[in-house]
Amino acid sequence: MNILLIGGGGREHALAWKMAQSSQVESIRVVPGNPGIAELPKCKCVALDLNDLNKVADYAEEHSIDLTVVGPEATLVAGIADVFRSRGLPIFGPNKNAAELEGSKAFSKNLMQKYHIPTAAFKVCTDIDSAKAFVEEQGAPIVVKADGLAAGKGVVVATTKEEAMAAIDEMMADHKFGEAGARVVLEEFMEGEEASLLAFTDGKIVVPMVASQDHKRVYDGDKGPNTGGMGAYAPAPVMTEALRIKAEETILKPVIAALNKEGRTYCGCLYAGLMIKGDSVRVVEFNCRFGDPETQVVLPLLDSDLVEIMLACATGTLDASMVKWKNQATVCVVMASGGYPASYENGKVITGLKEAGGMENVVVFHAGTKAVGNDVVTAGGRVLGVTATAKDIKSAKNFAYAAVEKIHFDKAHYRKDIAWRALNR
Ligand code: AMP
Repeated sequence: MNILLIGGGGREHALAWKMAQSSQVESIRVVPGNPGIAELPKCKCVALDLNDLNKVADYAEEHSIDLTVVGPEATLVAGIADVFRSRGLPIFGPNKNAAELEGSKAFSKNLMQKYHIPTAAFKVCTDIDSAKAFVEEQGAPIVVKADGLAAGKGVVVATTKEEAMAAIDEMMADHKFGEAGARVVLEEFMEGEEASLLAFTDGKIVVPMVASQDHKRVYDGDKGPNTGGMGAYAPAPVMTEALRIKAEETILKPVIAALNKEGRTYCGCLYAGLMIKGDSVRVVEFNCRFGDPETQVVLPLLDSDLVEIMLACATGTLDASMVKWKNQATVCVVMASGGYPASYENGKVITGLKEAGGMENVVVFHAGTKAVGNDVVTAGGRVLGVTATAKDIKSAKNFAYAAVEKIHFDKAHYRKDIAWRALNR
């Protein structure tokens, strides 16, 4: 099979790494890819304009692509799957109208309300006055969310009314996120511990992956501003077997059925961000694609052929027996540029990649890197996802940090406490 993979971050490196292991796969073309992906067997990085989806489909036809896999949400929300499906090209990823589950938080919350899927109480506001009046009435803490895609930055967990009002002004008056902030969702603050549950679906059945846990805050002890994710581990013990079954029965299956009822068939990876408190599990958000960095810890634990599963999702033939997991654990430590998530400098030479990647059970996924001559240099906030697999979380953590210590670049920053919740239990 010839595969086309869209994206160029750590998530896509993990997808390419796992797909390259499939005996069915002959070639993987990755748009745009990254220097880590370029070194994988069978993989080739190509430059294509992702704003012209018909050209991307032309490319898939010209290169006899058997399956296209899409990483980033923006490309799905823009409708790449519709273009490919209308031309009979198999693709793993939801159509535009199903991707709205992530593309519009108002759509997602209204759907959950209509179909009784457990989530925080909320109100959708289209003007500043009603938004502020609602905050005045509800008080803090309260969560303010831009309706549309905001590259993971459109959520403010406000601990005071003033903070909430300022967030509303930024989104609705200053247009910080452009059109994405024209509507806001105001949400009840949920207490508890978060976990991510990703699932494969062909639009009919849903097969959950192992649960994982991300670390959003930039500093140890979950301090400092939110980031795209500073590390992750799997499986997340907070998601007990009983809770996983509950999430499957009250959240994953119902949302796929609800989308079907609304005429929006969903095929691909469904990502449920969940809040767990005692025996209650509620939805924080849905994403219409694999998570980053969750993918980097989930896929190394998959004991099955990822391409076979994805093709089954794309062709409506998914079966739970296709998806098997290893009885191991993974830890991914993100090495970031100094200053991230605020401003940072690119172009720092990275050393030690071969030494770290050469360690048994360690893979160094590239997130923001660039090849310059014979060097690999930093080219983003999140630079690398150093991931180790071992018999349990404690030893995976030790391997991951031993690998991190071999890698150097000027002003590198990483959290030292990835997986602390699992290890403190
Ligand atoms: P989201 O992009 O919707 O996942 O929100 C980003 C982060 O904000 C989540 O990972 C949570 O940590 C936090 N968050 C979002 N919604 C809520 C909520 N209703 N209650 C508590 N925390 C929330």
